[in-house]
Amino acid sequence: MPNIDRREFLKLVGAGGVSVGAGFMLRESTKHPREYLIPHVVAPEDISSGLSTWYNSVCSMCPAGCGISVRTREGRAKKIEGNLSHPVSQGRLCALGQAGLQALYNPDRLTAPMRRNGEGTFEEITWEQGLKQVGDRLDLLRAAGRGNRVALLTTGVRGHLAQLFESFMRQLGSPRLLHYDYDHPHTLYAANQQFFGEDRLPYYDLQNTRLLLSFGADYLSNWISPVHHSLGFGESRQGPADVRGRFVQIEPRMSISGAAADEWIPARPGTEGILALGLAHHIIAEGNYSGADRDAWMAALADYTADAVAEQTGVPATTITRLADSFVDTAPSLAIGGGSAGNHSNGVDTLVAVNALNYLVGNIGQEGGLVFNPEPAGPALQQHQASYSTMLELAEAAHHGEIDVLIINGTNPVFTLPPTAEFESALAQIPLVVSLSSFLDETTALADVILPSHTYLESWGDDFPEPGVGFSVGAVSQPVVSPLYNTRGTGDIILDLARRMGSSSVMPWQSMEEFLKYGWQRIYQRGDSQTLAQGFDAFWTSVLKAGAWGETKSGNTAFSLNPDVIAGIGVAPPEFSGSEDDYPFILHPYLSPNFHDGRGANLPWMQELPDPMTSIMYGSWVEMNPLTAQQMELSEGDLVDIQSPHGQLRVPVFIYPAIMPNVIAIPIGQGHGEYGRYAKDRGVNPIQILSPQLEPVTGSLASSATRVNVSATGKRVKLVKTGGTSRDLGRNIIQTTGGSGVEVSSVSSNSIPITEVTS
Ligand code: SF4
Repeated sequence: MPNIDRREFLKLVGAGGVSVGAGFMLRESTKHPREYLIPHVVAPEDISSGLSTWYNSVCSMCPAGCGISVRTREGRAKKIEGNLSHPVSQGRLCALGQAGLQALYNPDRLTAPMRRNGEGTFEEITWEQGLKQVGDRLDLLRAAGRGNRVALLTTGVRGHLAQLFESFMRQLGSPRLLHYDYDHPHTLYAANQQFFGEDRLPYYDLQNTRLLLSFGADYLSNWISPVHHSLGFGESRQGPADVRGRFVQIEPRMSISGAAADEWIPARPGTEGILALGLAHHIIAEGNYSGADRDAWMAALADYTADAVAEQTGVPATTITRLADSFVDTAPSLAIGGGSAGNHSNGVDTLVAVNALNYLVGNIGQEGGLVFNPEPAGPALQQHQASYSTMLELAEAAHHGEIDVLIINGTNPVFTLPPTAEFESALAQIPLVVSLSSFLDETTALADVILPSHTYLESWGDDFPEPGVGFSVGAVSQPVVSPLYNTRGTGDIILDLARRMGSSSVMPWQSMEEFLKYGWQRIYQRGDSQTLAQGFDAFWTSVLKAGAWGETKSGNTAFSLNPDVIAGIGVAPPEFSGSEDDYPFILHPYLSPNFHDGRGANLPWMQELPDPMTSIMYGSWVEMNPLTAQQMELSEGDLVDIQSPHGQLRVPVFIYPAIMPNVIAIPIGQGHGEYGRYAKDRGVNPIQILSPQLEPVTGSLASSATRVNVSATGKRVKLVKTGGTSRDLGRNIIQTTGGSGVEVSSVSSNSIPITEVTS
């Protein structure tokens, strides 16, 4: 199993295994022949050897920032693999990363600039026409001192493109630079800031932990860095049962991580933090914490006795005390939280409670626990991440006529915001909406001008992964093929617009590649004497060849808890939108492992890839506990109407034993009205019926806080899936046991040992 941790990295450096570094260059990949690892400075048409050529770059299919190696033949990209030298992915990739080729070769890509004409349809224009129209408007606004009427809305980007956006908006004098993604973990950042005083996410050392308690974080599928976590999980699971790591997953609906865990514990939605504090109470009450602040903790947690917490969470008191004792007795241990647990009205408090568990058993700064990351070597700019509230403010400003130009890059808020945000009607109020997207998604379809960007496989860029891996890592994203169409790099478009509004003296770079080299000079300057002696060009070539740069500097090692955190600890019961009488079910929308927040739905490989938990392809479904289905006389394929206080969807039922009876779950990702032939008019988008319930600390959407009702329609469809039935239909084929201390469900048709919870 490949593995690059800090120790391994130091070993490489000490052994001289890295010849050029600033700190140090990571080794070149050993996966592919060294002689073919060359930077892409030779135009593809000049490559006629008939041999594969590999280029190292960065995956941009989700925010994790995995390193990739792309195999090309005669200038065409053929296969994407993980870059063995990149500490995040270490030679591995997820399915979405593999499918990046289908973004490049997608038949529905935007192939040239376009403008909406008088009839409301798009017509092709030249780049000069498009850039002039937008540049002239920006220049006018800036000259008139009205640059603050320009907004730039981008998917979350890091590295020098983020810095370029920052400079561009500063030239306009506009504070309206927003990075928006549906799945940004606002509550996790806020909880870590509150508890640790850190703006960055720490490194969660799954690889070396012996017991992981995950409160809602689907770390093997979608939680912050799934490929890296999968590697850590695999590493931790090596060896006999008494040596390998143990994994416990707490969530109302079994995720992929829950299915891979040793134990899955359903807790009532939104009570995961209360459960964490129940464990914390037991740890202290049993005398297993002896810090100077013990009495303060005991006073703060007085209400969280095992019995009281059992009452609120539905998790038996015996399970709570058993988990708490194991968490103390098994070292090193680690608690993580996120996903649906962070997407409730009490999201930040929940994740603070999870941090408290790590604090009480001494996991902070420890191998197998959580380790603070150092300052990234390049731009991170997390402060511009837009919450749901920030997006509402932008929409409101547009409705009030305060926005003249909106530039949108790579994000699709019309699809990923609930209709209550009124973002679509806000766009209609903006005189000039410019999209830099590569695809005609729901938001781009409403633009006035489209200046289509290259895909990431055709672009220059860089990345400083967040979360990091405990030491500084950076990587350059280089074009692995020449552009297929009449598109341009996002950075190049921004630089061109900057020139047109007279900002050449401040932003003098002719291209993104030139700006990157300028920015990486600073990283080069951090190098040792050997690196500096070889010069920048040698350093740059080595970065491109290796696909990753790193240095051994680690983050904070000293940590002392602010006493105010203890005084403020507590998790209120979650609040839901809709009354329980009218809306008896809690909707659990979850990021699809295939489509993420919907961005992967235009990739045919992802459409035809069976969902890992249900084996369903191509469509949407609602997961329902067998008991619930039995009571409602529903079976697989029955179409039901799901109604929230804010909308309605029609979707087929899938019987899912590992979900609480009062919870129903729908994956996010399908339900597109645009976005190309593979995505359009397929399935439903549960975001469309979410209530605008907020997490109050961050202003983020409490996306797991919507109540719904379910009604049968009398119609049915056949689900497209590869699996047969997951139930033994009373034939007693599969014998199950809950193990010691775990109650086995009494649901006769259930073949998965779930703890019985009745409400
Ligand atoms: S987790 Fe998958 S999609 Fe995300 S960056 Fe890594 S390989 Fe790409």
